[in-house]
Amino acid sequence: MRHFNIPVFIPEMACPFRCIYCNQYNITAREKPPAAEDVREIIESYLLTLPQTDASIETAFFGGSFTGLSIPEQNKYLDILQPFIKSERISGIRISTRPDYINSEILANLKQRCVKSIELGAQSMDDKVLKKAGRGHSAKDVSRAAELIKKMGFELGLQMMTGLPGDTEEKAMKTAQEIISLGADTTRIYPTLVIKDTPLASLYQKKEYQPQHLSEAVSLTAKLYYLFNRAGVRVLRMGLHPSEGFLTGERLVAGPFHVAFGELVLTRLWEEKLRSITKETEHQSVTLFVHPSDLNASIGHKATNKKRLKYFYSKVRFVADNNVAKGTFHADFT
Ligand code: SF4
Repeated sequence: MRHFNIPVFIPEMACPFRCIYCNQYNITAREKPPAAEDVREIIESYLLTLPQTDASIETAFFGGSFTGLSIPEQNKYLDILQPFIKSERISGIRISTRPDYINSEILANLKQRCVKSIELGAQSMDDKVLKKAGRGHSAKDVSRAAELIKKMGFELGLQMMTGLPGDTEEKAMKTAQEIISLGADTTRIYPTLVIKDTPLASLYQKKEYQPQHLSEAVSLTAKLYYLFNRAGVRVLRMGLHPSEGFLTGERLVAGPFHVAFGELVLTRLWEEKLRSITKETEHQSVTLFVHPSDLNASIGHKATNKKRLKYFYSKVRFVADNNVAKGTFHADFT
């Protein structure tokens, strides 16, 4: 069954926090939260374009800390969705929020209104990193919220960042381990970017902060991906969505931004997997059989993995094969 999300953007209104990498202040100055009626229209128009059979369709509220809204405000949006859920046109609701905006009362209300999945911006499980980032919550807040969410039977998502001030590869790996131990079902990995008009941009300009290089961010994210994948935690996204401000460079000051960041990470993972056949060989050609879902990643971004193999074989072919397990390959040499 295919999965689709209908995204509904709720901008962060009057966020009392000041995470050093965030410029939501500018965003909220320009954007108003949608009226409940607008949400209904967004959903109706998406449903017209999505398949009605053999598909699971969820609505995802993103952009802000959903549970930072008062309960009546949250219900204004959630109640609009109830008829869609009753008629089974939508199978559930996803929200994202901050760990310190979770308590039993909030969760009971979400449960009653068919919210299935809650994603928390954990960012790091190191208190010093969280403090430097100005997150305004501790690692303990993340654990407490995650435990409550799991106890009440929601799907749990824990997002993390890499390259924050004071963070290291070791700390990032530890954060990933803790996310796994907390029972996360999903994660997203975001390398820190320096965005215009943020405290982090000032630190960068004063040379007090150095972002990760792209290759460093790709290589660390590949290690994190491997860890999560092995533990059965689904990685829903790697790298920020390439919004227009990033593509034009208008919003971006510095940092490891790439329009196909996730693809670069998967390319790196496949580069490692294919290393065993990139040795001196007497064979002329190789055919690699991979699961269809691995075809693009194994060939690599801009065919880099295929090109590397061409140093060793005059003919290289990749073939999609449903009989090969995901993440593995079978090689035939001639
Ligand atoms: S990232 Fe931090 S400052 Fe920005 S909206 Fe979220 S909580 Fe507020």
